[in-house]
Formats: sequence, structure tokens, C-alpha cells
Amino acid sequence: MKWQGWGQTDIGRVRKVNQDTFAIHQALGLWIVADGMGGHAGGEVASQLVIDTIGPYVEEHQTKKPQPKQERETLLRNALIATNQAIRTHAKNHQEFSGMGTTAVVLQISEDSPGEATIAHVGDSRAYRIQDDAMTLLTRDHSLVEDRIDLGIITREEALTHPLRNVLTQGLGIESTVEPSVQTLSLHPTDKILLCSDGLTKMMTDDEFFTVIRQHNHSLKEACQQLIEKANQLGGKDNITVVLVGAET
Ligand code: CA
Repeated sequence: MKWQGWGQTDIGRVRKVNQDTFAIHQALGLWIVADGMGGHAGGEVASQLVIDTIGPYVEEHQTKKPQPKQERETLLRNALIATNQAIRTHAKNHQEFSGMGTTAVVLQISEDSPGEATIAHVGDSRAYRIQDDAMTLLTRDHSLVEDRIDLGIITREEALTHPLRNVLTQGLGIESTVEPSVQTLSLHPTDKILLCSDGLTKMMTDDEFFTVIRQHNHSLKEACQQLIEKANQLGGKDNITVVLVGAET
């Protein structure tokens, strides 16, 4: 079973720059979405550093033998910690980028273990599992509104319009330490994994984009294009990035 990914990013209808990026490393079975923040091009630089750091890090540190689940999780966790450091070092050396940060969500399905997906993230970029009749959010946003939902202070619906909805509790480059969330799940051959930035999830409900993916289930590329088109139709208030991964049939 060979897993393939398709990705697409779009500036949206409102923003003047696109601070999102994505990467597809087919040979490593590695897919990444990052959503940068910070003025003076800081957001673009930070999200690009995610792409520039994680691929090479995984390539360098990945052992050849089949890796136990624990090792695969540690690899992605350490790749994100290394990225945090890379961003902070870059900001320290280039004053104009001071305070820049980014989210990152990373998926790896290694060739040795094609039935398992390891997912690591920092921030509010998300991963979803898409099945024939259901879609499941796999990641928990590192955000203030998510904490408040957990505490029962606000509802998920209220979070969508909450004034603090964009405040993250963790991002890469922000603090000297970072604690990525990492998980491994079993995959069914017909599963798809969606990685996306909040430019998608804040423009439409999960049900809405699940419907789009189902309607274009035959083509990863078409599903990605349609997701972006729909987010733009609904206002495109932020940069939109999607990466969809499915098994080759
Ligand atoms: Ca965003």
C-alpha cells in the first residue's frame, strides 16, 4: 500500500500575503502544513522554516530499519522542537523577524508501517481522518478558545466568532520550549487524512467540508481544489491550505 498526497495553498480573498506553506515528501511518506504569523514577512519566513527544517531533519534522523511506533513519534516530536529552535535562532539573527511564529501539523506514514499514521502538531492547524461515512478531527488546537471549550466556559459554536479565537497557547518560535502533541493511529486502506490551516476550518463547518471531500472522493487534487474554492466562496478571510493523503488504488 502506497500513500500519496496532494496539496494546495491559496492567499484567500482578503489577505495581501500568503503566510501558509505546505510540503509533500513522497519518498519519506511525510506531509506538512504550516501557518505563519508575524509582520514584516515574519510569518512567511517562519512557515518556510518549518518546511526547510522538518524534511531534512526526518531524512537525517530516520533509521532505516522498521521503526517502532515510539521512535516514529519521537522523530516527529524532535523535528518540531528543532524547528522551534531554528525559528528562534533566525529571529535572533534578523531583528526584523523578532516575534515571528508559526503552526505546524505533520503526518508521516512510513513505508515500513503503511497501516499506521503518526501525526504531530503545534498550534491550530489540524488533521482529520476521512472515511466513507464519517470524518474525525484528530488534533486538538493549542488555542485559548479550545481551553475555554474544555472548561465549559464557551461552546464550540461560540468559539467560531470569539474575539480571542486566533490566540494560540502554543506556536513554533514563540517560546524557548514547545510541547508538540503526537499520536499514532491505525489506517484503513480507504481512509484519507486531511491536513489544513485554519483558513479552511474557520470558513466552514466540518460537515460542509466533509461534503466537499465526499463529492470529489475520486481525486485528491480535485477535492483540494474544491475545498479552497468553497472557502473562498464563503469569504476567504484567511490564507487557505489543504493537504489530502490517500492510499494509491
Ligand atoms: Ca491562518
